[in-house]
Amino acid sequence: MSRKIKRRDFMRTGTVAGLTLAAAGKQTVGFPTIMTQSPIKPVVVASANGNRFKNGGNVTAVQKAFTMMTSGSNVLDALIAGVNIVELDPLDDSVGYGGLPNADGVVQLDSSVMHGPKKRAGAVGALEGVRTPSLVAQAVMENTDHHLIVGKGAQVFARNMGFKIEDDLNTDNSRKKWLEWKRRTDPDHYLNPAKRAAAGHRVALEMLAQGILREENLHGTINCDGINAKGEICGVTTTSGLAWKIPGRLGDSPILGAGLYVDGAIGAAGSTGRGEANLYNLCSFVIVEEMRRGAHPKDAGMEVLNRIKSNTIEKRLLNSRGLPNFGISFYIINAKGEYAGVTMYEGGSFAMCNENGPQTLKSEPLLQGKPSD
Ligand code: ASP
Repeated sequence: MSRKIKRRDFMRTGTVAGLTLAAAGKQTVGFPTIMTQSPIKPVVVASANGNRFKNGGNVTAVQKAFTMMTSGSNVLDALIAGVNIVELDPLDDSVGYGGLPNADGVVQLDSSVMHGPKKRAGAVGALEGVRTPSLVAQAVMENTDHHLIVGKGAQVFARNMGFKIEDDLNTDNSRKKWLEWKRRTDPDHYLNPAKRAAAGHRVALEMLAQGILREENLHGTINCDGINAKGEICGVTTTSGLAWKIPGRLGDSPILGAGLYVDGAIGAAGSTGRGEANLYNLCSFVIVEEMRRGAHPKDAGMEVLNRIKSNTIEKRLLNSRGLPNFGISFYIINAKGEYAGVTMYEGGSFAMCNENGPQTLKSEPLLQGKPSD
């Protein structure tokens, strides 16, 4: 495959391209069509918050990741540096510092990372006191023989790796929202789990309707995946998980194959939204497997959304149309640099950055209307 390239690209690829042409014994009369070293166009995709929050700086997560990646940084380092912006930004209360806490008011964070070329992975779950769980997940990958460390053990590991441990990652915003939730729910809810779940859900929906919460507050995460011109693919997912969760609950984000999956030869997929639906179907793994069989990222994403739809049969999870009453989205790239954002219901978006700069694009929905309809 060939394409005309700009002077800047020529500076980067011209020598290799020239050698390639010379080696192939091609005549280069006049101004030749330059063969680039790789037909892959580098790209970074992420959940929509990847092109929203800047933590007081000038760039969003996808911009940062793309710039670092195309300046030669390791793809995973670039992606993590991108999501660090969102983890550290207290304005995103679904990720990292200031993420909404669990039912006890404690912020517990989950994250996973995968390095395609190295075929390595790391993750942490229910980690307390570290603002950037993605960096701890990376430390698990780099420094241990394990893929997943959770709870107190994850915190001790982080301390041993030199991370600063803070008493409390709540901000005024996250604490205020948690207090409101606590005030509205039955303080004895552990006595009756069925009622507690119903009460928690009802109150959350009320708070949504009253504008105290946004949909992404309840479920919110950043997943960010990238491929560089060499075709190296990596991904990271990081989150404070489901708001008001039972302490210790892990969602999909730290679970390889669910919140994130990367196969360096095939592609990457990651997720935001109802983690339980993803865990049940191991969607990121399935997406990558679908792409291995030749599916385009968008079709692979639609396949898992359909599976989630078929596997959602509990009444409490269905709306009046008999369809899932929750949102879930996937962000996908393949080894050619093709990408997609797909989502259960219309209206979702995702972030993307390529040579033309960062953009927020419409995700492809499986269903029309709203989860609550
Ligand atoms: N998937 C995350 C979880 O279930 C939360 C989210 O992205 O909404 O923990």
